[in-house]
Amino acid sequence: MADSGAHSHHVDPDELVSVEEHRRVVLSSITPLEPIELNLFEAHGCVLAEDVTAAADVPNFTRSAMDGYAVVAETAGRGATLRLTGEVAAGARDPARVRPGDAVRIMTGAPIPVGADAVVPVEVAEEHNGKVQVRATPDAGDHIRPAGEDVRAGATVLRSGRRLGAADIGMLASVGRGRALVHPRPRVAVVSTGDELAEPEATLTPGQIRDTNSYTLTAMAQEAGATAFRHTIVPDDRRALTEAFEGALSYADMLVTSGGVSAGRYDLVKQVLAQLGDVAFSKVGMQPGMPQAFGFVTRPLSHPVPCFGLPGNPVSAFVSFEVFVRPALRRLQGRTDLNRPRISAVLEEPLRSPAHKVSFLRVTLRRDDVWYARATGPQGSGILSSAVEADGLAEIPSHRTEVAAGETVVVHLLVSR
Ligand code: AMP
Ligand code: MG
Repeated sequence: MADSGAHSHHVDPDELVSVEEHRRVVLSSITPLEPIELNLFEAHGCVLAEDVTAAADVPNFTRSAMDGYAVVAETAGRGATLRLTGEVAAGARDPARVRPGDAVRIMTGAPIPVGADAVVPVEVAEEHNGKVQVRATPDAGDHIRPAGEDVRAGATVLRSGRRLGAADIGMLASVGRGRALVHPRPRVAVVSTGDELAEPEATLTPGQIRDTNSYTLTAMAQEAGATAFRHTIVPDDRRALTEAFEGALSYADMLVTSGGVSAGRYDLVKQVLAQLGDVAFSKVGMQPGMPQAFGFVTRPLSHPVPCFGLPGNPVSAFVSFEVFVRPALRRLQGRTDLNRPRISAVLEEPLRSPAHKVSFLRVTLRRDDVWYARATGPQGSGILSSAVEADGLAEIPSHRTEVAAGETVVVHLLVSR
């Protein structure tokens, strides 16, 4: 398998930290963001940090489920002629009264008149000159929605830890809540570093490439539920890096950088991060994505901010985000389902993987009697096309250097959940 990553070969295996170990270090140090009250639309998609109970019955009065006539069922059998004595619409303040032999015109959602015990739908009644003729015998309770039909006063409708979906947002409104206590969306600052980087629409000068990582990573952070901000490109310069990181750390709940964590002369990111806070550099036994910086920076009057220094190769940054940053972002949001769904898939072609490292290969999937996987073409860490086509990441364990066609591998699905 080709790899254009610079530091993938000739690594002393004793220097490597395993993927699980690095994930454990990252995830064990991250706790959910302090809950705050947000209005319903801001809270949508966030994890609830309180139990929500109903103060009153929902609905809190007995109402009609149909347009029709409120009646006393016993006196309104098939063929009966009733006296029309009034009308109640939805929103009516004082409920009418119905006596045996009477009918009150009623609309869906209107309070059931005192004395009535059934609604005869308009479809089975005829109204003429103040009289209502009934064509089908009602039973007591027909088309009546009792108070508390949906929710009983005192009932817990949503429990802490639940991720708020659309129906939950409606339920909050239904029990009289315009706000909810939730873990907020993390604000993520994304910074690409490198002297060679240019903006997408810039005309490239010799030696320049376009900055792709800040775009990919910002989009990935958004997809992971964060509010992400892309910074302008920062050159390989100690002062510029320090200023950019300090600026980002002044508002962010997480900093994600790319580039500058390898062994090159101008790989200053790890030095600058280590100067700002407690950030360590690791060689993780994975491909792509071996060099990883992770740690915390504490600014005055603020909580420690987790910082990820991801390698610069576009696929390395992409995979590193998937494996380490995305689960961390989900934990910040109070989510407990940190990982992508995974499946087993049968390889349609042999795959190679470096010794002592877990490979995360980009694969397309095909479903037949079982799932089948094949690589998305060349898998070099600079080949972003391999991620564009990917349905998932096939994980090849570190003790394997070759996996044959027909063997089964674990694939992490690159789908939102
Ligand atoms: P580095 O991790 O800084 O040594 O970069 C490794 C490789 O990734 C180099 O070829 C860089 O030019 C490339 N690279 C670094 N940052 C980016 C970026 N933001 N977008 C695209 N390529 C990048
Ligand atoms: Mg660089």
